[in-house]
Amino acid sequence: MDHALEVRGLSKTYGTGDQAVRAIDDLTFEVDPGEFLCIVGPSGCGKTTLLKCLSGLLRPSSGAAYLEGKLIEKSPDGLALVFQEYSRSLLPWMTVGANVRLPLLGQRVRRSERRSRAAEALAAVGLTGFEDKHPWQLSGGMQQRVAIARALAYHPHLLLMDEPFASVDAQTRADLEDLVLDVHERFGITVVFVTHDIDESVYLADRIVVLSHRPTTVKEIVSVPLARPRDQIATKELPAFIELRRRVIRQIKGETEEIDDTDESDDVPAGVAAAREEVAE
Ligand code: ADP
Ligand code: MG
Repeated sequence: MDHALEVRGLSKTYGTGDQAVRAIDDLTFEVDPGEFLCIVGPSGCGKTTLLKCLSGLLRPSSGAAYLEGKLIEKSPDGLALVFQEYSRSLLPWMTVGANVRLPLLGQRVRRSERRSRAAEALAAVGLTGFEDKHPWQLSGGMQQRVAIARALAYHPHLLLMDEPFASVDAQTRADLEDLVLDVHERFGITVVFVTHDIDESVYLADRIVVLSHRPTTVKEIVSVPLARPRDQIATKELPAFIELRRRVIRQIKGETEEIDDTDESDDVPAGVAAAREEVAE
């Protein structure tokens, strides 16, 4: 059987000459159908760059990615992307319903089906009855649920999420994590979820790809054999959870210490400071 997604020797350099920024050095991994794969790495290591390459928004400098065996060139069918900045991804002058139906307009989907898919997706994220509201009438967490509903209404085979809960409060974040797990379970979607939150990655994932600092490579791929359905309290108390968490922290911490050793200046790069904070939690 084909992998849901294959990443083969993918690299990405922005710009040329003196201005060149090598974001991704060399990434190779694959994702199985129905798998929940998390990607963690220090900020600035190239996670968003990777998702842009996977969604066809950016062309890799070398190497390639394949969606269900097909080379990803431009925005491929069957793939949906949820960004961190949901407020920028929803159109404020459109209703919630219209926002959710929007990606279906370019597809050959009948009007009645567009309506039923949007209703089904909004129900899945607990927003039935909000179709006629506008995004600005909703809280941040609700807006992010609209963005998730929009991705679901599209019936993607592969859902890419880029730090989707980084800007909501802790309780909303926990609710949204459980929502995404539930949707993953019910719709059997393959999910690639980028986060810099280690607890979140262990809580959600079947496997975690730990990335090095920029230019990024795969440091380790950690399997997460924790039972599902998962529970915010019970799962996080399991010795296996705590051990996995420790393992991922050690990998990322090793990364930041490597930078410290080679960096002569006192200036700590922003990405390192953020990763340290994360690790210190
Ligand atoms: P992450 O999502 O892991 O925080 P990014 O993929 O956003 O990291 O960025 C990786 C590196 O590439 C960073 O050093 C960033 O400054 C650089 N970068 C991102 N986008 C561009 C761009 N359009 N042009 C030049 N450099 C970029
Ligand atoms: Mg990013």
